[in-house]
Amino acid sequence: MTIIKQPSCNDSFEQGAITVAEAVSGILAATPVIAEYQKRPLRDCLHGILFDDIKSPCEVPAHNNSAMDGYALWSADLPVTSSRPFQVIGTAFAGKPFSGSCQKNQCVRIMTGAMLPPNTDTIVIQEDVRVLDAEHVEIGVGHRKNQNLRFAGEDIQQGATVLKKGSAINAAELGVLASLGINEMPIYRKPRVSFFSTGDELKSLGETLQTGEIYDSNRYSLYGLLSSCNVDIIDMGVVRDEPETIRQTLLAAARCSDVILTSGGVSVGEADYIKAILQDIGSMDFWKILMKPGRPLTSGRIDDALFFGLPGNPVAVMVTFYQFVLPCLKKLRGLPHKEVLTLKARTQTAIRKNPGRREFQRAIASTDADGNLQVALTGKQGSGILTSMSQANCLMVLGEECGPVEAGSQVDIQFFTHYFD
Ligand code: AMP
Ligand code: MG
Repeated sequence: MTIIKQPSCNDSFEQGAITVAEAVSGILAATPVIAEYQKRPLRDCLHGILFDDIKSPCEVPAHNNSAMDGYALWSADLPVTSSRPFQVIGTAFAGKPFSGSCQKNQCVRIMTGAMLPPNTDTIVIQEDVRVLDAEHVEIGVGHRKNQNLRFAGEDIQQGATVLKKGSAINAAELGVLASLGINEMPIYRKPRVSFFSTGDELKSLGETLQTGEIYDSNRYSLYGLLSSCNVDIIDMGVVRDEPETIRQTLLAAARCSDVILTSGGVSVGEADYIKAILQDIGSMDFWKILMKPGRPLTSGRIDDALFFGLPGNPVAVMVTFYQFVLPCLKKLRGLPHKEVLTLKARTQTAIRKNPGRREFQRAIASTDADGNLQVALTGKQGSGILTSMSQANCLMVLGEECGPVEAGSQVDIQFFTHYFD
Protein backbone atom coordinates (compact mmCIF):
# COMPACT_ATOMS: atom_id res chain seq x y z
CA MET A 1 0.00 0.00 0.00
CA THR A 2 1.30 3.44 -0.85
CA ILE A 3 0.61 6.26 1.50
CA ILE A 4 0.29 9.51 -0.41
CA LYS A 5 1.30 12.35 1.80
CA GLN A 6 -0.60 15.54 1.15
CA PRO A 7 1.23 18.78 1.84
CA SER A 8 0.47 20.03 5.31
CA CYS A 9 1.12 23.15 7.33
CA ASN A 10 3.50 21.11 9.45
CA ASP A 11 5.93 20.40 6.62
CA SER A 12 9.05 22.43 7.18
CA PHE A 13 10.33 21.90 3.68
CA GLU A 14 8.83 20.43 0.60
CA GLN A 15 9.46 20.19 -3.10
CA GLY A 16 7.92 22.76 -5.36
CA ALA A 17 7.50 25.19 -2.51
CA ILE A 18 8.57 28.78 -3.12
CA THR A 19 9.93 31.48 -0.87
CA VAL A 20 8.00 34.55 0.25
CA ALA A 21 10.25 36.73 -1.93
CA GLU A 22 9.53 34.56 -4.98
CA ALA A 23 5.80 34.76 -4.32
CA VAL A 24 5.96 38.56 -4.01
CA SER A 25 7.91 38.85 -7.29
CA GLY A 26 5.39 36.58 -9.03
CA ILE A 27 2.49 38.67 -7.72
CA LEU A 28 4.08 41.97 -8.73
CA ALA A 29 4.88 40.62 -12.21
CA ALA A 30 1.23 39.68 -12.67
CA THR A 31 -0.09 43.01 -11.31
CA PRO A 32 -0.66 45.91 -13.70
CA VAL A 33 -0.76 49.56 -12.68
CA ILE A 34 -4.29 50.93 -13.13
CA ALA A 35 -3.64 53.40 -15.96
CA GLU A 36 -6.71 55.50 -15.26
CA TYR A 37 -6.97 58.74 -13.41
CA GLN A 38 -9.61 61.01 -12.00
CA LYS A 39 -9.31 64.74 -11.46
CA ARG A 40 -10.31 65.36 -7.88
CA PRO A 41 -10.62 68.39 -5.59
CA LEU A 42 -7.65 68.68 -3.20
CA ARG A 43 -9.24 67.24 -0.06
CA ASP A 44 -10.57 64.20 -1.94
CA CYS A 45 -6.99 63.42 -3.02
CA LEU A 46 -5.94 62.59 0.56
CA HIS A 47 -4.26 59.13 0.50
CA GLY A 48 -4.48 59.06 -3.29
CA ILE A 49 -1.49 58.67 -5.61
CA LEU A 50 -0.51 61.41 -8.07
CA PHE A 51 -0.98 60.48 -11.70
CA ASP A 52 1.25 63.30 -12.98
CA ASP A 53 4.21 65.41 -11.88
CA ILE A 54 3.11 68.63 -10.20
CA LYS A 55 5.13 71.68 -11.24
CA SER A 56 4.92 74.83 -9.20
CA PRO A 57 3.02 77.69 -10.85
CA CYS A 58 4.70 80.17 -8.49
CA GLU A 59 7.47 80.72 -6.00
CA VAL A 60 6.99 79.81 -2.35
CA PRO A 61 7.32 82.10 -0.49
CA ALA A 62 6.08 84.49 -3.13
CA HIS A 63 8.21 87.41 -1.85
CA ASN A 64 11.03 88.11 0.52
CA ASN A 65 9.45 88.36 3.96
CA SER A 66 10.25 88.56 7.62
CA ALA A 67 10.79 85.40 9.67
CA MET A 68 10.35 87.32 12.94
CA ASP A 69 8.58 90.27 14.51
CA GLY A 70 11.02 93.18 14.54
CA TYR A 71 12.33 96.12 12.51
CA ALA A 72 13.32 96.14 8.84
CA LEU A 73 16.20 98.32 7.65
CA TRP A 74 18.87 98.54 4.98
CA SER A 75 22.00 96.54 5.93
CA ALA A 76 24.40 99.31 4.86
CA ASP A 77 22.79 101.41 7.61
CA LEU A 78 23.42 98.87 10.43
CA PRO A 79 25.36 100.35 13.36
CA VAL A 80 28.99 99.20 13.28
CA THR A 81 30.70 100.75 16.28
CA SER A 82 27.93 101.81 18.66
CA SER A 83 24.15 101.87 19.14
CA ARG A 84 22.11 104.51 17.32
CA PRO A 85 18.50 105.71 17.25
CA PHE A 86 16.34 104.94 14.22
CA GLN A 87 13.07 106.56 13.22
CA VAL A 88 10.17 104.11 12.82
CA ILE A 89 8.38 105.30 9.67
CA GLY A 90 5.53 102.78 9.54
CA THR A 91 4.44 99.18 10.03
CA ALA A 92 4.39 96.20 7.61
CA PHE A 93 1.87 93.47 8.46
CA ALA A 94 1.52 90.03 6.87
CA GLY A 95 -0.83 90.68 3.98
CA LYS A 96 -0.61 94.47 4.44
CA PRO A 97 2.71 95.68 3.00
CA PHE A 98 4.28 99.01 3.84
CA SER A 99 5.08 100.85 0.64
CA GLY A 100 7.04 103.83 1.89
CA SER A 101 10.74 103.87 1.19
CA CYS A 102 13.21 103.46 4.02
CA GLN A 103 16.05 106.03 4.15
CA LYS A 104 19.21 106.34 6.24
CA ASN A 105 18.55 106.15 10.03
CA GLN A 106 15.04 104.89 9.39
CA CYS A 107 13.41 101.50 9.90
CA VAL A 108 9.98 99.91 9.51
CA ARG A 109 8.17 97.96 12.23
CA ILE A 110 7.55 94.53 10.66
CA MET A 111 5.56 91.41 11.62
CA THR A 112 6.34 87.78 10.81
CA GLY A 113 5.34 86.95 7.24
CA ALA A 114 5.12 90.59 6.14
CA MET A 115 6.71 91.54 2.81
CA LEU A 116 10.00 93.36 3.09
CA PRO A 117 9.42 97.11 2.51
CA PRO A 118 11.37 98.82 -0.31
CA ASN A 119 15.02 99.61 0.55
CA THR A 120 15.25 97.06 3.35
CA ASP A 121 17.11 93.74 3.40
CA THR A 122 17.60 92.93 7.11
CA ILE A 123 15.42 92.38 10.16
CA VAL A 124 16.46 93.19 13.70
CA ILE A 125 14.21 91.23 16.04
CA GLN A 126 12.14 93.23 18.50
CA GLU A 127 13.90 91.65 21.51
CA ASP A 128 17.17 93.26 20.30
CA VAL A 129 16.00 96.89 20.17
CA ARG A 130 15.27 99.44 22.85
CA VAL A 131 12.09 101.44 22.30
CA LEU A 132 12.88 105.10 22.87
CA ASP A 133 9.44 106.59 22.15
CA ALA A 134 6.45 106.00 19.89
CA GLU A 135 8.52 106.78 16.80
CA HIS A 136 12.08 105.82 17.69
CA VAL A 137 14.04 102.69 18.59
CA GLU A 138 17.70 102.22 19.41
CA ILE A 139 19.55 99.49 17.49
CA GLY A 140 22.90 98.10 18.58
CA VAL A 141 25.90 96.51 16.82
CA GLY A 142 26.52 92.85 15.80
CA HIS A 143 23.73 92.40 13.23
CA ARG A 144 24.23 90.72 9.85
CA LYS A 145 22.93 91.58 6.41
CA ASN A 146 19.88 89.44 5.47
CA GLN A 147 19.31 88.10 8.97
CA ASN A 148 15.81 86.81 9.88
CA LEU A 149 14.60 86.84 6.28
CA ARG A 150 12.76 84.24 4.25
CA PHE A 151 13.65 84.61 0.60
CA ALA A 152 11.23 84.40 -2.30
CA GLY A 153 11.36 80.86 -3.73
CA GLU A 154 13.51 79.47 -0.90
CA ASP A 155 11.03 76.61 -0.38
CA ILE A 156 9.81 76.10 -3.96
CA GLN A 157 11.02 77.69 -7.22
CA GLN A 158 8.54 78.50 -9.97
CA GLY A 159 8.44 75.63 -12.50
CA ALA A 160 10.16 73.18 -10.14
CA THR A 161 8.72 69.66 -9.83
CA VAL A 162 7.24 69.70 -6.34
CA LEU A 163 5.71 66.25 -6.34
CA LYS A 164 6.44 63.39 -8.72
CA LYS A 165 3.97 61.08 -10.39
CA GLY A 166 3.53 58.13 -8.00
CA SER A 167 3.76 60.27 -4.84
CA ALA A 168 1.27 59.56 -2.09
CA ILE A 169 -0.81 62.56 -1.06
CA ASN A 170 -0.75 62.74 2.71
CA ALA A 171 -1.22 65.62 5.13
CA ALA A 172 2.04 67.41 4.23
CA GLU A 173 1.36 67.08 0.49
CA LEU A 174 -2.13 68.54 0.91
CA GLY A 175 -0.48 71.53 2.61
CA VAL A 176 2.23 71.91 -0.05
CA LEU A 177 -0.34 71.77 -2.86
CA ALA A 178 -2.57 74.26 -1.08
CA SER A 179 0.43 76.60 -0.68
CA LEU A 180 0.72 76.59 -4.49
CA GLY A 181 -2.95 77.41 -4.92
CA ILE A 182 -3.63 74.05 -6.58
CA ASN A 183 -7.08 72.78 -5.72
CA GLU A 184 -7.58 70.00 -8.25
CA MET A 185 -5.23 67.31 -9.57
CA PRO A 186 -5.19 63.95 -11.32
CA ILE A 187 -4.90 60.90 -9.09
CA TYR A 188 -4.96 57.20 -9.93
CA ARG A 189 -8.37 55.59 -9.86
CA LYS A 190 -8.82 53.59 -6.66
CA PRO A 191 -8.75 49.83 -7.12
CA ARG A 192 -12.05 48.10 -6.40
CA VAL A 193 -11.56 45.18 -4.06
CA SER A 194 -14.29 42.67 -3.34
CA PHE A 195 -14.02 39.97 -0.74
CA PHE A 196 -15.97 37.17 0.83
CA SER A 197 -15.50 34.38 3.34
CA THR A 198 -16.12 30.75 2.57
CA GLY A 199 -17.12 28.03 5.00
CA ASP A 200 -20.23 26.16 6.13
CA GLU A 201 -19.25 26.80 9.74
CA LEU A 202 -19.38 30.59 9.37
CA LYS A 203 -22.17 32.83 10.57
CA SER A 204 -22.43 36.56 10.09
CA LEU A 205 -22.79 38.84 13.08
CA GLY A 206 -26.33 39.03 14.38
CA GLU A 207 -27.06 35.38 13.54
CA THR A 208 -27.33 32.70 16.21
CA LEU A 209 -24.56 30.13 16.31
CA GLN A 210 -25.50 26.44 16.13
CA THR A 211 -23.17 23.77 17.53
CA GLY A 212 -19.83 23.80 15.70
CA GLU A 213 -20.41 27.16 14.06
CA ILE A 214 -18.24 30.24 14.47
CA TYR A 215 -18.59 33.91 13.64
CA ASP A 216 -16.91 35.06 10.49
CA SER A 217 -14.05 37.23 11.72
CA ASN A 218 -11.92 37.32 8.57
CA ARG A 219 -14.29 39.66 6.77
CA TYR A 220 -13.89 42.14 9.58
CA SER A 221 -10.10 42.03 9.80
CA LEU A 222 -9.94 42.26 6.00
CA TYR A 223 -12.34 45.20 6.05
CA GLY A 224 -10.06 46.88 8.60
CA LEU A 225 -6.94 46.25 6.53
CA LEU A 226 -8.55 47.35 3.27
CA SER A 227 -9.83 50.53 4.91
CA SER A 228 -6.22 51.67 5.31
CA CYS A 229 -5.42 51.03 1.63
CA ASN A 230 -7.44 53.74 -0.11
CA VAL A 231 -9.42 51.25 -2.18
CA ASP A 232 -13.14 50.90 -2.83
CA ILE A 233 -14.38 47.97 -0.75
CA ILE A 234 -17.10 45.57 -1.84
CA ASP A 235 -18.12 43.16 0.94
CA MET A 236 -19.78 40.10 -0.59
CA GLY A 237 -20.57 38.35 2.68
CA VAL A 238 -20.26 34.70 3.69
CA VAL A 239 -20.53 32.06 1.00
CA ARG A 240 -21.24 28.45 1.90
CA ASP A 241 -19.01 25.61 0.74
CA GLU A 242 -21.19 24.99 -2.32
CA PRO A 243 -19.35 24.94 -5.64
CA GLU A 244 -22.12 26.58 -7.66
CA THR A 245 -22.63 29.42 -5.17
CA ILE A 246 -18.88 30.02 -4.97
CA ARG A 247 -18.67 30.06 -8.78
CA GLN A 248 -21.52 32.56 -9.15
CA THR A 249 -20.09 34.80 -6.44
CA LEU A 250 -16.65 34.77 -8.05
CA LEU A 251 -18.11 35.64 -11.46
CA ALA A 252 -20.15 38.48 -9.96
CA ALA A 253 -17.08 39.76 -8.11
CA ALA A 254 -14.97 39.64 -11.29
CA ARG A 255 -17.46 41.89 -13.09
CA CYS A 256 -17.07 44.71 -10.59
CA SER A 257 -13.55 44.40 -9.14
CA ASP A 258 -9.89 44.81 -9.85
CA VAL A 259 -9.04 42.40 -7.03
CA ILE A 260 -11.00 39.58 -5.42
CA LEU A 261 -10.04 38.23 -2.01
CA THR A 262 -11.46 35.13 -0.41
CA SER A 263 -10.57 33.46 2.82
CA GLY A 264 -10.79 29.75 3.56
CA GLY A 265 -11.31 26.80 1.28
CA VAL A 266 -7.87 26.80 -0.33
CA SER A 267 -6.18 23.97 1.53
CA VAL A 268 -6.55 20.30 0.74
CA GLY A 269 -9.68 19.53 2.74
CA GLU A 270 -12.76 18.02 1.15
CA ALA A 271 -14.75 21.25 1.21
CA ASP A 272 -11.95 23.30 -0.34
CA TYR A 273 -13.49 24.08 -3.74
CA ILE A 274 -11.97 27.43 -4.61
CA LYS A 275 -9.00 26.11 -6.58
CA ALA A 276 -10.99 23.84 -8.91
CA ILE A 277 -13.56 26.58 -9.61
CA LEU A 278 -10.89 29.12 -10.32
CA GLN A 279 -9.18 26.77 -12.73
CA ASP A 280 -12.48 26.40 -14.53
CA ILE A 281 -13.52 30.06 -14.81
CA GLY A 282 -10.12 31.73 -14.86
CA SER A 283 -6.53 30.83 -14.22
CA MET A 284 -5.03 29.55 -11.00
CA ASP A 285 -1.68 29.17 -9.32
CA PHE A 286 -1.53 27.20 -6.12
CA TRP A 287 1.49 28.10 -4.10
CA LYS A 288 3.01 26.26 -1.24
CA ILE A 289 4.94 29.07 0.32
CA LEU A 290 7.85 28.47 2.67
CA MET A 291 6.27 30.55 5.39
CA LYS A 292 4.42 30.29 8.66
CA PRO A 293 1.66 31.13 9.10
CA GLY A 294 0.00 31.18 5.70
CA ARG A 295 1.58 28.37 3.75
CA PRO A 296 -1.13 27.64 1.18
CA LEU A 297 -2.04 30.58 -1.03
CA THR A 298 -3.93 30.57 -4.26
CA SER A 299 -3.49 33.36 -6.72
CA GLY A 300 -4.91 33.79 -10.16
CA ARG A 301 -7.17 35.78 -12.37
CA ILE A 302 -10.79 35.83 -13.54
CA ASP A 303 -10.98 37.98 -16.68
CA ASP A 304 -9.24 41.22 -15.67
CA ALA A 305 -9.67 40.72 -11.93
CA LEU A 306 -6.74 39.49 -9.87
CA PHE A 307 -7.59 36.80 -7.37
CA PHE A 308 -6.12 35.91 -3.99
CA GLY A 309 -7.40 32.88 -2.15
CA LEU A 310 -6.15 33.54 1.35
CA PRO A 311 -6.00 30.80 3.96
CA GLY A 312 -8.90 30.45 6.42
CA ASN A 313 -7.05 30.79 9.68
CA PRO A 314 -7.52 34.33 10.99
CA VAL A 315 -3.85 35.11 11.68
CA ALA A 316 -2.75 33.62 8.37
CA VAL A 317 -5.30 35.83 6.58
CA MET A 318 -3.79 38.98 8.06
CA VAL A 319 -0.16 37.92 7.59
CA THR A 320 -0.68 36.93 3.95
CA PHE A 321 -2.55 40.17 3.37
CA TYR A 322 0.43 42.17 4.67
CA GLN A 323 2.95 40.13 2.68
CA PHE A 324 1.18 39.58 -0.64
CA VAL A 325 -2.04 41.56 -1.07
CA LEU A 326 -0.60 44.90 0.07
CA PRO A 327 2.28 44.95 -2.47
CA CYS A 328 -0.26 44.12 -5.19
CA LEU A 329 -2.68 46.87 -4.12
CA LYS A 330 0.14 49.40 -3.90
CA LYS A 331 1.27 48.61 -7.43
CA LEU A 332 -2.30 48.79 -8.78
CA ARG A 333 -2.73 52.17 -7.08
CA GLY A 334 0.36 53.56 -8.82
CA LEU A 335 2.86 53.45 -5.93
CA PRO A 336 6.41 52.43 -6.83
CA HIS A 337 7.44 49.22 -5.06
CA LYS A 338 9.55 49.59 -1.97
CA GLU A 339 10.59 47.14 0.69
CA VAL A 340 8.87 47.39 4.05
CA LEU A 341 11.05 49.15 6.62
CA THR A 342 12.79 46.38 8.58
CA LEU A 343 14.42 47.19 11.90
CA LYS A 344 16.72 45.22 14.19
CA ALA A 345 15.62 44.55 17.75
CA ARG A 346 16.97 42.45 20.59
CA THR A 347 14.61 39.59 21.35
CA GLN A 348 13.69 39.20 24.99
CA THR A 349 12.34 35.74 24.30
CA ALA A 350 14.12 32.63 23.02
CA ILE A 351 12.37 31.30 19.91
CA ARG A 352 11.99 27.74 18.70
CA LYS A 353 12.39 27.56 14.95
CA ASN A 354 13.68 25.15 12.34
CA PRO A 355 15.42 26.39 9.19
CA GLY A 356 13.40 26.09 5.99
CA ARG A 357 10.55 28.54 6.30
CA ARG A 358 10.18 32.25 6.89
CA GLU A 359 8.23 32.83 10.07
CA PHE A 360 6.18 35.87 10.99
CA GLN A 361 5.76 35.84 14.73
CA ARG A 362 3.48 38.31 16.46
CA ALA A 363 5.51 40.52 18.74
CA ILE A 364 5.57 43.66 20.83
CA ALA A 365 8.44 46.04 20.22
CA SER A 366 9.46 48.69 22.73
CA THR A 367 12.57 50.55 23.80
CA ASP A 368 14.80 49.48 26.68
CA ALA A 369 16.33 51.80 29.30
CA ASP A 370 19.05 52.85 26.79
CA GLY A 371 16.53 53.65 24.09
CA ASN A 372 17.38 50.57 21.99
CA LEU A 373 14.67 48.49 20.34
CA GLN A 374 13.71 45.28 22.09
CA VAL A 375 11.00 42.82 21.17
CA ALA A 376 9.01 40.08 22.89
CA LEU A 377 6.60 37.53 21.45
CA THR A 378 2.94 37.99 22.33
CA GLY A 379 2.61 34.43 23.60
CA LYS A 380 0.96 31.53 21.79
CA GLN A 381 1.62 31.79 18.06
CA GLY A 382 -1.07 29.49 16.61
CA SER A 383 -2.55 30.72 13.33
CA GLY A 384 -6.02 30.76 14.90
CA ILE A 385 -5.01 32.96 17.83
CA LEU A 386 -6.23 36.28 16.52
CA THR A 387 -5.69 38.09 19.83
CA SER A 388 -1.94 37.74 19.11
CA MET A 389 -2.42 40.18 16.20
CA SER A 390 -4.30 42.57 18.41
CA GLN A 391 -1.63 42.55 21.14
CA ALA A 392 1.25 42.85 18.68
CA ASN A 393 2.53 46.07 17.17
CA CYS A 394 4.91 44.34 14.78
CA LEU A 395 5.85 41.06 13.16
CA MET A 396 9.14 39.43 14.06
CA VAL A 397 10.48 38.14 10.75
CA LEU A 398 12.70 35.07 11.00
CA GLY A 399 14.30 34.23 7.66
CA GLU A 400 14.28 30.85 5.90
CA GLU A 401 17.81 29.95 6.96
CA CYS A 402 17.28 30.97 10.59
CA GLY A 403 17.21 28.21 13.24
CA PRO A 404 16.49 28.50 16.96
CA VAL A 405 17.02 31.99 18.33
CA GLU A 406 18.49 32.67 21.74
CA ALA A 407 17.13 35.40 23.99
CA GLY A 408 19.28 38.52 23.62
CA SER A 409 20.07 38.09 19.91
CA GLN A 410 19.15 40.58 17.19
CA VAL A 411 16.11 39.81 15.05
CA ASP A 412 14.30 41.63 12.26
CA ILE A 413 10.98 43.31 12.99
CA GLN A 414 8.43 45.08 10.81
CA PHE A 415 5.91 47.42 12.42
CA PHE A 416 2.34 46.98 11.17
CA THR A 417 2.05 50.69 10.48
CA HIS A 418 5.04 50.58 8.10
CA TYR A 419 3.37 48.05 5.81
CA PHE A 420 1.03 50.79 4.60
CA ASP A 421 3.80 53.30 3.76
P1 AMP B 1 -10.17 26.39 5.78
O1 AMP B 1 -8.97 26.91 5.08
O2 AMP B 1 -11.44 26.76 5.09
O3 AMP B 1 -10.05 24.91 6.03
O4 AMP B 1 -10.19 27.08 7.21
C1 AMP B 1 -9.13 26.93 8.13
C2 AMP B 1 -9.57 27.36 9.52
O5 AMP B 1 -9.91 28.74 9.52
C3 AMP B 1 -10.80 26.65 10.03
O6 AMP B 1 -10.63 26.45 11.42
C4 AMP B 1 -11.92 27.61 9.77
O7 AMP B 1 -13.01 27.45 10.62
C5 AMP B 1 -11.23 28.93 10.03
N1 AMP B 1 -11.89 29.97 9.26
C6 AMP B 1 -12.10 29.96 7.93
N2 AMP B 1 -12.74 31.06 7.54
C7 AMP B 1 -12.92 31.82 8.65
C8 AMP B 1 -13.51 33.09 8.89
N3 AMP B 1 -14.04 33.81 7.89
N4 AMP B 1 -13.52 33.58 10.14
C9 AMP B 1 -12.97 32.86 11.16
N5 AMP B 1 -12.39 31.67 10.99
C10 AMP B 1 -12.36 31.13 9.76
MG1 MG C 1 -13.32 26.02 5.10
